[in-house]
Amino acid sequence: MRAAVFLDRDETLNRADSLPPPPPPANPGDVTSPALVELLPGVADACARLHRAGFLLVVCSNQGSVARGAIDLRTVEAVNDRIRSLLPADLLDAFYVCPFHPRGHVKALTAEHPWRKPGPGMIEAAAAELSIDTAGSWAVGDKQRDRDSAIAAGIDPSRALWIGPDRPIVDLAAAADVILKASSAGAVQGTTVRLRATSGAPLAEARNRATVIAAAGAIAERTGIGLLSIHADDESVTVTLDTDRIAAIGFLAELRRSTNAWYAGRISGGTLWGEDPAPE
Ligand SMILES: [Mg+2]
Repeated sequence: MRAAVFLDRDETLNRADSLPPPPPPANPGDVTSPALVELLPGVADACARLHRAGFLLVVCSNQGSVARGAIDLRTVEAVNDRIRSLLPADLLDAFYVCPFHPRGHVKALTAEHPWRKPGPGMIEAAAAELSIDTAGSWAVGDKQRDRDSAIAAGIDPSRALWIGPDRPIVDLAAAADVILKASSAGAVQGTTVRLRATSGAPLAEARNRATVIAAAGAIAERTGIGLLSIHADDESVTVTLDTDRIAAIGFLAELRRSTNAWYAGRISGGTLWGEDPAPE
């Protein structure tokens, strides 16, 4: 199960309300042609950053103008394709569109529908079809109904972001900042362990500290253990690893062994680390 960011389309990804008003029966804000598609500033970068962080990107869009007879579904698809084509390949995982509207002119589509935001239907359908972990997901839109739809679908209200120039989160780029900051804060905290140097203070020498840091990097690369941070001062080296404590102690034992071997070769009989093998 992967988490997603459910994205509204018009005025979240692309301009809509600020386009020149289309001829009736279309309403202002309807995107009636792929030629009118223009991404909002920062959208491509925001989508790329969210994608890199592992989120599925799922667009959910009310297109009541189809029920009103202003455009047909083929035009909606063409607009969606144009949005895709303006973004790096495969950034958007899926589009969901609701063509229904209770006050339409196309008889078959003139109805209320569970997919129509603020209903939860599009997000629920996407979650089922794409195996999305709704609890870990977010939503971003420029209207209250986008937020209400997400909450109705089970997304935590704190993760249903309502963007707009007059709102605290002004656009998708700012929303991506919020999402990515929260995601990294919720990531693995890591395990911190420390090796203490011998009383001879070998770590006071910059070359020795640099060698220990380089050795830790090499062990991390070889083992696939994530080295989240490393700090060496005159007395000790402290590493934070993305593992449990047992693996962290094994990492430290290997760091101790390999750097002691290097140091003993450099200074005959020398040792970098203190007697106590138990790391802190
Ligand atoms: Mg919108």
